[in-house]
Amino acid sequence: KISIRDLHKRFGNNVVLSGIDFDVFSGQVIVIIGPSGSGKSTFLRCCNGLELPERGDITLCGSPLISKGKPLPEKQLNQLRKEVGMVFQSFNLFPHLSVLENLCVAPMMLRNLDKATAQQNALKLLDKVGLTSKAQAMPGNLSGGQKQRVAISRALAMSPSVMLFDEPTSALDPELVGEVLQVMKMLASEGMTMMIVTHEMGFAREVADVVVVMDGGGIVEAGPPEQIFGAPQSERTRQFLNAVL
Ligand code: ATP
Ligand code: MG
Repeated sequence: KISIRDLHKRFGNNVVLSGIDFDVFSGQVIVIIGPSGSGKSTFLRCCNGLELPERGDITLCGSPLISKGKPLPEKQLNQLRKEVGMVFQSFNLFPHLSVLENLCVAPMMLRNLDKATAQQNALKLLDKVGLTSKAQAMPGNLSGGQKQRVAISRALAMSPSVMLFDEPTSALDPELVGEVLQVMKMLASEGMTMMIVTHEMGFAREVADVVVVMDGGGIVEAGPPEQIFGAPQSERTRQFLNAVL
């Protein structure tokens, strides 16, 4: 479970998060939507310590990740970050390493797995995302959809308890979006806890347990997809959906 309380973040004078309170329960799929600049990415980045809020608390499985806006000591922060996998729009694979090596680096360094065990786990994950045949390929020779499936399996290789996705399909050609959403649906059906920023409203409707609508650095409305898409309570939700649907 992740608990977020009173989260505030500014960049200079620009208030980006203005007091977020939210709970994510184990096994839930949370989809975050909202206009550009509403703070979606910053919110996710705060949840794995990539961004430091000036106020608020985040606890992850009972342990503080951020407390009163202060970060934990580096060692503890790294410990917690192992529990939180993140997937970015831009893949961020290590370009000079093979697919298999991309999956093995972090588990060997941070989870102290020996090479054979790390490779064995990595091959299992590549099989799950349908990329066994690409184990020895270099990232530069993969399609965008394949790169993103590698990025997802690389995050999974750390055995995280939560996965964060920031617009994982936004950089993909339209015909490659489906294969990545398919992998995310599979994770959802396996009970992975996920927080997903996306513009894929069909996916949100189908997979989300809770849809969170953000605007102006706050949560405007949160509820099951039937509510958000069928009977939105907030005028701002209605405006946003009218603009994107
Ligand atoms: P998008 O849909 O375009 O990705 P978003 O909802 O993810 O938008 P954020 O990226 O969280 O929005 O940005 C929210 C606000 O914070 C924006 O006004 C942005 O310019 C500002 N911002 C984000 N990151 C930084 C940064 N590192 N330095 C300064 N300002 C930032
Ligand atoms: Mg963003």
